[in-house]
Amino acid sequence: MTEPVPIRVLPDAVINQIAAGEVVERPASVLKELVENSIDAGAQRIEVDVVDGGRRLVRVRDDGLGMDRESALLAIERHATSKLRQLADLDSIATMGFRGEALAAIASVSQFTLATNRAGAVAGTEILIFGGKIQEVRDAGLPTGTDIAVRNLFFNVPARRKFMRSAQTEFTRIRQAFVLEALAHPGLTFVLRADDSEVYRLPATSDLLDRIRDLHGEEVTRHLRALQFSNGVVDIGGYAGLPPFSRLDREWQVIFINGRPCGSPVVNYAIQTAYRNVLPGGRYAPIFMHIQLPPDLVDVNVHPAKKEVRFRRPTEVRDVIIEALRLAISGTDLPPPKQREPSAETPSEAPQPREAVPVLTRTDEPSLPLPAVPTAATQITLDLPAASAASEPEDLPAAGATPWAEYRLLGRVGGMYAVLETNDGLVLMDARSAHERVIYEKLMDAVGRGKVPSQGLLPPTAVAVSPAQTQALRKHLKLLQEMGFGLAEFGNDTFMVESLPVWVADAAPASLLSDLADGLMQGGKSAARDWAQPLIATIAGRQAVELQRELSEPELNALIRDLARTAMPYTSPRGKPTVILMSFRELNRKFGRE
Ligand code: ADP
Ligand code: MG
Repeated sequence: MTEPVPIRVLPDAVINQIAAGEVVERPASVLKELVENSIDAGAQRIEVDVVDGGRRLVRVRDDGLGMDRESALLAIERHATSKLRQLADLDSIATMGFRGEALAAIASVSQFTLATNRAGAVAGTEILIFGGKIQEVRDAGLPTGTDIAVRNLFFNVPARRKFMRSAQTEFTRIRQAFVLEALAHPGLTFVLRADDSEVYRLPATSDLLDRIRDLHGEEVTRHLRALQFSNGVVDIGGYAGLPPFSRLDREWQVIFINGRPCGSPVVNYAIQTAYRNVLPGGRYAPIFMHIQLPPDLVDVNVHPAKKEVRFRRPTEVRDVIIEALRLAISGTDLPPPKQREPSAETPSEAPQPREAVPVLTRTDEPSLPLPAVPTAATQITLDLPAASAASEPEDLPAAGATPWAEYRLLGRVGGMYAVLETNDGLVLMDARSAHERVIYEKLMDAVGRGKVPSQGLLPPTAVAVSPAQTQALRKHLKLLQEMGFGLAEFGNDTFMVESLPVWVADAAPASLLSDLADGLMQGGKSAARDWAQPLIATIAGRQAVELQRELSEPELNALIRDLARTAMPYTSPRGKPTVILMSFRELNRKFGRE
């Protein structure tokens, strides 16, 4: 018989270290907690210093309210917080921190200095803590604000110290955490120094776009569109990237919910949905999104480090985000172009602008007073004034608010790429991808309106498929018929194709059917229209352009204008770019003219 082990209350220092496991994972979490405290304290300016990736030092200085001695001593006690008085407050958390355990936890696993002063106080307070034990409390002459230095994180917890990574890895995390805070609060000045050299100096600004530019450079801001949508309860703001501009990681996808950087599966799902048919898999658009909603509709108390939230009305939030993103990246929120109805013109009536500006003729024409082997690019650079002179609105085909709303078709390269000149530069268009996009949207639009014009095949064609394909087609037969595919099962794994949606009527029935069946099989069990419809439209569009010969000039003009009128002109439904834009500025830079 062994002695019973007495139950004991854990000493505070141990509790703090356990709590530290939740709140403080690594130097970056220290930065986050300290910076958010500074923001809560009303700081206008926050300076962060790190040494050795934060492993040796994370120091955050602010010009906020500061603390008097009593509050400072309280602040480092567990569950001491000036921000939460009763449980009921949990429902309406407006400040960043709310648990009152970050400082105590951090101080218990580091060598910790807190120096702080309130405006108008005689003297400030400096507190030194070593592994959770107060070493010294003393007066100090200090400016108003708070200066907290955290040295040698986990010096007294070897198990956790082992989990820290290289200085470089930890610094990457530090930088990411800093960037998040800086993006969340463009109105505050932020400075980050690492090992004494300045990494970021971010002046306060009223515009998030300035902050994005200061952090990530000019280029990304040129591909961002403002997000602005609200259903009266949920407000979406910020910026979203216009496809095909994208990255291979999510580093530039930053979501703020009521000002706090955090994520939620609902938000990710909404983003994925909005970009599904415009970006290839594995590519992520830059997104800097602010979601504002009444505090009682979000539960922030899910994740100890407050990285994830739960919504009380998730579908509503999801739909508002999708709509906001769609509006931003499709440009349909822009006022329609003022001029006449473009579809009234037939392509052959379209003007031939290159006659208006003879110097901008195709490169293979001998009349050019240019050096040998001129390229389209050099001509454009040389002929800037002529180019802008030629862009009188009445000379040009009308289109939506795309960069090629006004353009001149210069010719074709490589058989399938059309070369356009616009007021701003050069546009290369992949005719096939563009055509896929156009067919996709026409078909989806017609399906949405419940009337798909279809064209009879004369004679109807019998197509043999595999047994598995038969099953897939049979299962989705009704949907296919609604989408304008006149199919009938003929037995023996054969289908009669009697008619096709007009836009894909030229496709080869056999490969179209086989592709459709394969696509539908991969879609799995779900019979949901929301995936099957776009899938069918995508496959049909691809098949329709597969056999396509080279388009004539009037056909190309029609395509260019059709593309401009689509909701998402920049990518094919399969996520390939339809156009590559190159501005004159970019060209000038490349030719060393800037
Ligand atoms: P919480 O932020 O959840 O309240 P913390 O442990 O992070 O818990 O901070 C405890 C308290 O210390 C805060 O409630 C606040 O009153 C005070 N405090 C912390 N950092 C600062 C700061 N930079 N300026 C002024 N007060 C601060
Ligand atoms: Mg805090």
